[in-house]
Amino acid sequence: MKKISVFLAVILLAIQAMAQTTSTDSLNAGPYHETASRINDLVHTKLDVRFDFNKSWLYGKAWVTLKPHFYSTDSLTLDAKGMDIKKVALQIGTALKDLPYTYDGLQLHITLDKTYKGGETYTVYLDYISKPNEVKVKGSAAINDAKGLYFINPKGEEKNKPTEIWTQGETEANSVWFPTIDKPNQKTTDEIFMTVPDKFVTLSNGKLVSQKKNTDGTRTDYWKMELPHAPYLFFMGAGEFAVIRDSYKGKEVNYYVEKPYAPVARKIFGNTPEMIAFYSKILGVEYPWVKYSQMVGRDYVSGAMENTTATLHQESAQQDARELTDANGWESTIAHELFHQWFGDYVTTESWSNITVNESFANYSETLWNEYKYGKDAADDQNYQDMSGYLQSNSDQKDLVRFHYADKEDLFDAVSYNKGGRILHMLRHYVGDSAFFKALNLYLTTNKFKSAEAQQLRLAFEEVTGRDLNWFWNEWYYGNGHPQLNIQYSYDAPTKKARVIVEQTQSNGKLFKLPVAIDIYKGAGKKRYNIWTENKTDTFYFDAATKPDLINFDGDKVLLTEKKENKTLDEYIHQYKYAGSYLDRREAIEFATQNQDDPKAIAFLKTALADKFDGLRRFAMGGLDWKKENIKKEMEPQIAALAARDPKKLVRADAINILGGFGKPEYEPLFKAATHDSSYTVAGNALQALYSLNPDAATAEAKLLIAQPAKGSLATALTDVLSATGDETYASAILDNFENMPFSQAKIDAVQSLAVFIARTKNTDIVKRGVDAMASFRDASPQNFQKDADQLINDIIFKAIAKRKNAEGLKEQAAYILSRIPPVEKKGF
Ligand SMILES: [Zn+2]
Repeated sequence: MKKISVFLAVILLAIQAMAQTTSTDSLNAGPYHETASRINDLVHTKLDVRFDFNKSWLYGKAWVTLKPHFYSTDSLTLDAKGMDIKKVALQIGTALKDLPYTYDGLQLHITLDKTYKGGETYTVYLDYISKPNEVKVKGSAAINDAKGLYFINPKGEEKNKPTEIWTQGETEANSVWFPTIDKPNQKTTDEIFMTVPDKFVTLSNGKLVSQKKNTDGTRTDYWKMELPHAPYLFFMGAGEFAVIRDSYKGKEVNYYVEKPYAPVARKIFGNTPEMIAFYSKILGVEYPWVKYSQMVGRDYVSGAMENTTATLHQESAQQDARELTDANGWESTIAHELFHQWFGDYVTTESWSNITVNESFANYSETLWNEYKYGKDAADDQNYQDMSGYLQSNSDQKDLVRFHYADKEDLFDAVSYNKGGRILHMLRHYVGDSAFFKALNLYLTTNKFKSAEAQQLRLAFEEVTGRDLNWFWNEWYYGNGHPQLNIQYSYDAPTKKARVIVEQTQSNGKLFKLPVAIDIYKGAGKKRYNIWTENKTDTFYFDAATKPDLINFDGDKVLLTEKKENKTLDEYIHQYKYAGSYLDRREAIEFATQNQDDPKAIAFLKTALADKFDGLRRFAMGGLDWKKENIKKEMEPQIAALAARDPKKLVRADAINILGGFGKPEYEPLFKAATHDSSYTVAGNALQALYSLNPDAATAEAKLLIAQPAKGSLATALTDVLSATGDETYASAILDNFENMPFSQAKIDAVQSLAVFIARTKNTDIVKRGVDAMASFRDASPQNFQKDADQLINDIIFKAIAKRKNAEGLKEQAAYILSRIPPVEKKGF
């Protein structure tokens, strides 16, 4: 699964700064969770399901074939959450024999007709109704985020929203829609007969065997999964999708998108066959399943989910042609979910505690794909951003493999994903590429169609390398934190020795054993020393006839660490030029931006603005202090050039944004032209920049642009500019624009000016529609964001409305606002 946590973290930081809320962290707290006992094993699951769109119910029949795992047993417990159970029987040939059972709303405890021996199979038949919106956990409130089965706009009452069905199993929610043993260490083959309105297409695991039209306007699709997989990976999806057909070595590779996105589906998903080929090759395991399909679902509760052969993506995947001119913002997620088809689906974590054996690989696969497809800078950038995500998450005290936790959902965090991925990156460099991929192959082939934990990964690496790796696993998998290093460099001329002192300063007292490469530079030439640092303080001496131009600690920049170094600007500039990797360059740029009073740093940053990698051009721009007049003066020609013609749209957009702050009328033609750029980001930033120079000209452009669909920065800019006019004739266009934006940072940015516009208007109809739009924005936002959304809307709208005391229509409007958006605290009107 790919959660939207990284994306949300940015939003939440912004909101928290505004709302002054605080959050608590659960760390390694909570009870010990053992791996689920295997008393009975799933063997095969056959389902026959129909849907009631009015009630949002599923009518199901299930035939579950099982066998005792080893010891004999006369009973069976199935997970079946919130169902109406109509019948539980043993299937003997074509006959059914009722079985006694008890049901507590979550689990069925069934007494079998006799004691079954280990390995002896039997089939239980169940007739049931699944009611996903009514599931209660132990009598508490209804579940909102683990319904398993989701009916989207089931009665067709919401305009601009298709009717869809999709499921989300991870972690243990699929047992809301079929009775099973809902644990990751179970695997079963399956068949699903799905009856849906004939206008729908369907998607499930495995292959589509047949389709049969029924006389009542429905159709029954028969999906069959002939290889075993875990219950949480079962999937059903249905709706009026366009299906774009692609292939890999004769296997179907299909993209299910909403019909307007059919023309761009290949631009979004079209690298999938190449990814399958790449991953099959590096793993030495050919893509194991019969097909691979990807579907985009509305109102999806996560980022994306790697259901076996049937990945579901959230709506953000559906980018239009203009968005795609910036970059395919969803490609890493496409890679991530695909890699899960091996790490997660083919070999599955045996417990949620070990979820990193699924997620660290999926996370690291994003770096691997970038390295293969877009080069080392892109891969290093991905790797660095993921490491930063972990470091910013303040998860120092959480073990990677975490047996103690309060809620299993908490394990899907920056430790299991980002940190796990960086640990794999270090391991790859320590054992070498060929050993790394050979060990992954051994782990996959040894444990295929089974579950595994982090120890099986260690055994595979030990088998391949012939080395004991307990130290590495104890340090990184079964421990927490990361090294914080203070590194001091010096040169002693009389003895001709270069000295490196490495101090581990992490506060928890734990010391890391780290293999480190140290490169000593003279001019372009370097000599590499491989050392180990493992004590609180280690001192290393290296022969050097003269003072080195640079001593580069961690020469390949692979360590997961936070470090302080006493390097000079000259040394950093040398590092930028001669060490030269993405991180070597990034560190140099960062140091220079911290020393912007030094003319040498300024001169160097001019070089950095022309870096070959767009991410570093943007990093340099973002680090410059644009309040300083001398910086503006020195850099202006370069920024203007980047704004006008950098080949990367996002570099142009950043440059335009900066140039907008210069307040120079001579850039008005550039901004004006750029408001019509194919990139929403360039156009949106240009519109904001134009507004800062010439509000009338920007408003005139906005009035033209609002006629076309807009997304991202442009949608935000249009809301800002047109809302600022207070012109009610544009209310409908502003609201259409806002309503069409998916939940995103751009929409959060837009809600602010929309709220001000709505609060200022006297037209009660506009107020009502605006408030409805904001209320749906709030409802469509992720669960953990809704309180913050309320706070955000409240802060703006109530304040603005309070200024209009006794104004016309205020009473009715205020009552309506209160009915749709409850005040977070009393605002007193
Ligand atoms: Zn994942």
